[in-house]
Order: sequence, then C-alpha cells, then structure tokens
Amino acid sequence: MILVAACLLGVNCRYDGNSCKNEKVLEYIKDKNIIPICPEQLGGLATPRMPVEIAEGDGSTVLEGNGKVVNKEGEDVSEAFLKGAYETLKIAKLFNCKEAILKAKSPSCGSKKIYDGTFNGVLKKGKGITAALLEKEGIKVKSEENL
Ligand code: SF4
Repeated sequence: MILVAACLLGVNCRYDGNSCKNEKVLEYIKDKNIIPICPEQLGGLATPRMPVEIAEGDGSTVLEGNGKVVNKEGEDVSEAFLKGAYETLKIAKLFNCKEAILKAKSPSCGSKKIYDGTFNGVLKKGKGITAALLEKEGIKVKSEENL
C-alpha cells in the first residue's frame, strides 16, 4: 500500500484550492493500491488556506520542537502541521505503508527542498514535516520529481 499526496491525484486540497494533478504519478500508481492523504487537511486546516513556509529549520527541526511554521501573515501554525504529520503516520501504520509519494517543495510533503520562510519563492535544502516524520519511521518517501 502506498500513501499518495491527494493533490497529485487531482484532489483540490492545495492551499489555493486547486490541485497539482500529475500524469507521471497517475501512471506510476496505475496497478498499485494507494491511499490518498493531505496532511494539512488532516491537521485541521481549511482549504483554501494561507500559504505557509518553514521559517526556522526544516521538517526535522520542527519535529524536534525547535523549528517554526508560519503563514504569510506570520501566524505560527506549527501545531496544525505536526498534527497533520502524525495523523498521516497513523494512516501509514494502519495500512502498513512502506512507500509514500508526496508533493515536492511543500512544507508538509517536500522531501528534498522547501521554501525558505521569506515567501519570496526561494528554496532551501530540507524536508517538509510529514516527509521527515515518515522517513524517520522507515517509510520511503518519493516525489513526483524522482519517481
Ligand atoms: Fe498536497 Fe501535501 Fe499540500 Fe496536501 S499538504 S495539498 S497533499 S502538498
């Protein structure tokens, strides 16, 4: 069973109320069993919602209690992002998922690079919070960019 970021499948769960449907992902999962998840919605956030970036550190830092996730107005939304990550992990464990395909560059789902917290479109090296938690728990995280 594979966890897949719902926005990659065409579900309109992105912060801007749209999806980022990806044909490569749809082709990859064609004959596989998957579970669509959206950590930010599982964390209780609304759709649409304000854009969010990790201002201090990355997903691993936030999991350690040291980073900070903020929306564009500077509000700290770390708690909702952590909740979403742990709810996603709960689903992964329930269904014994060993692999996840998550959206690149997202503060939840990104697995190699994320935006740097300035909201200027600048990327930094690091993982999103859900990606970091799943990897820590031994789940292989891929994105639409490295399938
Ligand atoms: Fe997609 Fe992940 Fe963002 Fe949800 S949290 S919209 S699944 S990138």
